[in-house]
Amino acid sequence: MRIFVTGGAGFIGSAVCRHLVGDLGHDVVVIDKLTYAANLASLAPISEDPCYKLETVDICDAAAVGRLFESHQPDGVLHLAAESHVDRSISGSRVFLDTNVVGTFTLLEGMRAYLAGSGKAKADDFRFVHVSTDEVYGSLGSEGLFTETTPYDPSSPYSATKAASDHLAMAWRRTYGLPVIVSNCSNNYGPYHFPEKLIPLIILNALEGRALPVYGDGAQVRDWLYVEDHARALALILAKGRLGETYNIGGRNERRNIDVVRHICMLMDRMNPAGAPHERLITFVADRPGHDQRYAIDATKLETELGWRALETFETGIEKTVAWYLERRDWWEPLRRRVYGGERLGMIST
Ligand code: NAD
Repeated sequence: MRIFVTGGAGFIGSAVCRHLVGDLGHDVVVIDKLTYAANLASLAPISEDPCYKLETVDICDAAAVGRLFESHQPDGVLHLAAESHVDRSISGSRVFLDTNVVGTFTLLEGMRAYLAGSGKAKADDFRFVHVSTDEVYGSLGSEGLFTETTPYDPSSPYSATKAASDHLAMAWRRTYGLPVIVSNCSNNYGPYHFPEKLIPLIILNALEGRALPVYGDGAQVRDWLYVEDHARALALILAKGRLGETYNIGGRNERRNIDVVRHICMLMDRMNPAGAPHERLITFVADRPGHDQRYAIDATKLETELGWRALETFETGIEKTVAWYLERRDWWEPLRRRVYGGERLGMIST
């Protein structure tokens, strides 16, 4: 198969590309604007492979998107390109509307024109997987899980734009009959994660002896999934998911943020004993505006229909992740120095 991976130079997109090219031998065309969140070093393991190509394109550029469909004649799209950081969406939402909503619309229209002109055989086998988040469902109380039928109730500018794009994808399925599938996944973590997000930020701040910021009381619960488990799920959904369906993806690994931070401190005490005890660096800071209390995914549909299982528990995945950051200073140090140095984002100025 020749697969377009939008956002393929980002955290999850690069894991998807490494899996599709490195493990499955598919042809992959990365379509990426190369924003601050992109890092071509994350694609280095496959960058010399003849199955890999990069197109530096903004998904909001309809003419360029149209040209890409015509020139590469793909068999499917995994759509991950997005602005993805909730804190940045609080201080600057405009680009989230542009990329997440208008960009998704532009891709859907590009696919529609391509399939209309490509003949029946191509259209029958084509698939477009729109990759989304569990944050579209809003916040859970202490009980219950998000299922595919949970009503949408987004809290942040980020999750509102992702919810809008999910609705566009499904509307284009119902109205134009396009071969769309939507996936909604819980929080990812793992190697090559941009260090503005909680887990890599805590690992790197701990390594540098800096404060470990915990929002509010740290009691918010997230359901953590190792990024390579997500990449396998997306490849499976692309190959075997039913058109017009939604699949929730999650690893049944609920943890309170404060417990995640303490667990990383415990691993750092073992792997970086010079800085122990790292827990002394934990600092409670003002909470994120509109912070959702709890996310938790019921992945039964994906598990029973497509036979997917998360291979990593939180304990195995986080240990691999900490070890990776300790080994791969070459990957993260330029980002810390030149792109994002760890300052607080997403506060509302009064
Ligand atoms: P990321 O921020 O690491 O990467 C996003 C990529 O999209 C970057 O390479 C960036 O350059 C590219 N991009 C941004 N705007 C673009 C544009 N206009 N045109 C082309 N490319 C553009 O994001 P991520 O964490 O890898 O998330 C990928 C997708 O998965 C997103 O759609 C996100 O909503 C979804 N998701 C993320 C998580 C998570 O925990 N990170 C969980 C569930 C779903």
